[in-house]
Amino acid sequence: MLLIRLLSLASSALAYQKLSDDWLKNVTSGGDDFDVHNGALLAPLLITRVPGTPGQTKVQQHFVNYFSTQLPSWTVEWQNSTDKTPKTGDRDIPFQNLIIRREPPWTRTRPGQANYLTFAAHYDSKLEPKGFIGATDSAAPCAMLMHLARSIDRRLTERYDKLNSNGEPGGTMSSDMGVQILLLDGEEAFDRWTATDSVYGSRSLSQEWENTFNPAMSSYKTPLDQISIFVLLDLLGSANPSIPSYFRTTHWAYKNMATIESRMRGLGLLESDSEGPFLPDGEIDAKELGTTYIGDDHEPFMHKGVPILHMIPAPFPMVWHTMDDDGDHLHMPTVRDWSKIVTAFAMEWLDLMELEPSSGQGRRI
Ligand SMILES: [Zn+2]
Repeated sequence: MLLIRLLSLASSALAYQKLSDDWLKNVTSGGDDFDVHNGALLAPLLITRVPGTPGQTKVQQHFVNYFSTQLPSWTVEWQNSTDKTPKTGDRDIPFQNLIIRREPPWTRTRPGQANYLTFAAHYDSKLEPKGFIGATDSAAPCAMLMHLARSIDRRLTERYDKLNSNGEPGGTMSSDMGVQILLLDGEEAFDRWTATDSVYGSRSLSQEWENTFNPAMSSYKTPLDQISIFVLLDLLGSANPSIPSYFRTTHWAYKNMATIESRMRGLGLLESDSEGPFLPDGEIDAKELGTTYIGDDHEPFMHKGVPILHMIPAPFPMVWHTMDDDGDHLHMPTVRDWSKIVTAFAMEWLDLMELEPSSGQGRRI
């Protein structure tokens, strides 16, 4: 990770209807599934997962098994590449990104029509120190996204069914909304962080998507254009995180997440007794934001014009890149709170509130 001057970017904004208090109260945290010793979601991820090693194959199987057995409406695709690294000589190291999607049934047969609320986290672990687990970096964020997917699955089905039965499925940005979860490989440097020794997976994926063209007359020209916003989770799971708003162009989305956090706190729905808000910049005007950002998996996408929401604390957790970044050092109330906040953000973005009988109004772009 490194600090870089901010580039200005274009972004597209969706207006949206806030989740009601009742909806917020119904958002679950994942509970025992985040147990670090035997929790169904997180425990299998707390092993070394260096690219091209058996540990990494195991966590890949964990992801694929989870989605294929528990969330069969989600598609799972691989995007593979190989590269050499400064630590592995002439050997080609495999980098395997997972692309997990849920989209309206009518866009499945029409490539280039859906827009995707896009969440990303990296699932590889750092080569050194030997035995490094990377619980915050980024095992816990991956588990949060697994929980997010199951939390919105049924409501998404209802939303798509409702749009379908209204007789006008598809054709607008709102009705063609889907979700994709990118579990990215090769984020970590093998030696030290440089432009060519870091973010191997996201460099490959962003390039492939930039060079893939959807059929003529598609709503979106390339898969990159189909990303409505790229929400990157990283280094989450230590106590007292503070995440600034990094980008003016997506500050409106940051504010929406900060509002969810403060509303959940006000309703007594969060467990952590945090020293301050996780998202302290919610009340700040966009033009007062700083101009530094942190190098991470979003960068190759950002440089291609994708709007980014970067959920990474500054300063980093104390355990960052040490052997202490393991399951026992996670602050579980904070992990579960993040899980709730991010899940609620997805529900709000995807307009699931429309399903509530009392909210008939509120059509948006
Ligand atoms: Zn790292």
